[in-house]
Amino acid sequence: MARIPSIDPDLCTGCELCVETVPDVFQMEGDVAAISDPAGATEEEIQEAIDNCPVEAITWQDE
Ligand code: SF4
Repeated sequence: MARIPSIDPDLCTGCELCVETVPDVFQMEGDVAAISDPAGATEEEIQEAIDNCPVEAITWQDE
């Protein structure tokens, strides 16, 4: 089953690290990050953004 990243806007601090790491998947929407294209990068690249998020706001969701 495919999985896609999801961001909890209540946890996101808007540090923009995920947007800088994988700009084809994450984008800023106001003060928080959001998913622009869940298929815009490899799972490994998305996992890097997940691992680097300082507040663990990004998780995998089953599609
Ligand atoms: S790395 Fe985490 S806290 Fe920073 S903008 Fe992305 S989701 Fe938000």
